[in-house]
Amino acid sequence: IKGRYDQHFAVYDDAMREELLWEQTITNEMTTALSSEQFEVYLQPKYRLQDGVLAGAEALVRWNHPKQGFLSPTTFIPLFEKNGFITKLDQFVWDKTCAVLRQWDNKGYPPLSVSVNVSRADIYNADLTNILLKTVQKYGLGVSRLPLEITESAYTENPSQIIEAVESLKKLGFLIEMDDFGSGYSSLNMLNQLSLDILKLDMQFIRSETTKPKSQGILRHIMAIAGTMGLRVVAEGVETKEQLERLCEIGCDYGQGYYFAKPMPCEAFETLMRGPI
Ligand code: C2E
Ligand code: CA
Ligand code: CA
Ligand code: CA
Repeated sequence: IKGRYDQHFAVYDDAMREELLWEQTITNEMTTALSSEQFEVYLQPKYRLQDGVLAGAEALVRWNHPKQGFLSPTTFIPLFEKNGFITKLDQFVWDKTCAVLRQWDNKGYPPLSVSVNVSRADIYNADLTNILLKTVQKYGLGVSRLPLEITESAYTENPSQIIEAVESLKKLGFLIEMDDFGSGYSSLNMLNQLSLDILKLDMQFIRSETTKPKSQGILRHIMAIAGTMGLRVVAEGVETKEQLERLCEIGCDYGQGYYFAKPMPCEAFETLMRGPI
């Protein structure tokens, strides 16, 4: 038995060591990666469900790693949130997003808005509102062009910090989207304490929504609450026609997901803006 335990711990140690090594490598590389433009902004479209009109996009970061290829943000963002680098990376994404919006405006496209993610770590940056304002102003854009997605779990972790940040951002006119809505335990309390603009339904909700009648009921109630509070609702992770039909039925405003399109480079998104081929 002792031998077996030793073996078990050996395996565990190896996995830990590998993870630490990976974290160390990534940490060593991240600053150079940023300055040598290895990070890229991808855009995923959002559609208005009542008529299928393109209504905006979400900016999602990708790491085009010279040796490892494209890395998913789920592999490096948690580490960047731990070591603080996410604040730099997010600022890069916000800047790139505004630069693209400026380019499109210059080319005469209708003024879409592109939502960006604001990490839980950014919320602690005392300069957050200032940085965001400077970024949109640098490109001569109105603040409403850059809606901010803040994850619900950030609220759960530190309600007072989020309340303060959201209040000062709202004062400047930024639109606030609550990301992953319904994934935590304090969703209703949060609605009571924050003045939001948009609820972004957590993907898991859409998943179970089609299978469980109970989720269908909860979703209907969320829609009703959103209605009385003047909030618009976005469903993310829409993958099937059935999910889309249910969402239309309950009056969900916008949809985003693989059913419509995967996140894509900005140039590809521009083609999409020109309309159906
Ligand atoms: P999120 O903000 O909840 O973004 C939605 C994620 O779902 C994206 O994953 C998107 O590609 C994926 N997705 C979209 N439609 C579908 C679908 O129909 N089915 C499925 N299964 N997935 C779908 P991605 O790009 O890998 O990003 C993962 C997470 O990493 C994001 O979750 C967000 O929390 C974080 N993230 C991504 N880019 C940034 C960024 O620039 N800054 C910060 N702070 N976080 C980011
Ligand atoms: Ca998001
Ligand atoms: Ca989300
Ligand atoms: Ca998420």
